[in-house]
Amino acid sequence: MDWIIMIGELSHVGMNTCYFCNEPSEILIDRRLKKTLPRNIGVMNMRPCTKCEDLMKQGILLISIKNDTQMQGPIPNPYRTGGWVIIKQEAIERMLDGDFLKFALKYRFMFINDEAWDAMGLPRNEIHPD
Ligand SMILES: [Zn+2]
Repeated sequence: MDWIIMIGELSHVGMNTCYFCNEPSEILIDRRLKKTLPRNIGVMNMRPCTKCEDLMKQGILLISIKNDTQMQGPIPNPYRTGGWVIIKQEAIERMLDGDFLKFALKYRFMFINDEAWDAMGLPRNEIHPD
């Protein structure tokens, strides 16, 4: 489902952000005469950008989130804490079972809270200034 939150100056053109990597992913053009699109829309849908789509074909995307994050809204957007990795499907099949495994294989991504992230020994994508 697509959705837009109207904030700030409106335009005929807007930019969607990829739900998974937060990079600009799609240019949106309003075909009506009235300006209805915010210039910087943010996340508008859960379609992965081409980069994420390609990576999600190769494995399962794991994204770290804050421990007490609640999943709410039409597009849940939990507080992300910087962990972002692609895990081979064979590894996920060894790590998970039941509904978690079914979800991972169907949607090709999972949010993992920080406690579980660290327990699994997954790497942090820390940015070092030098
Ligand atoms: Zn992406």
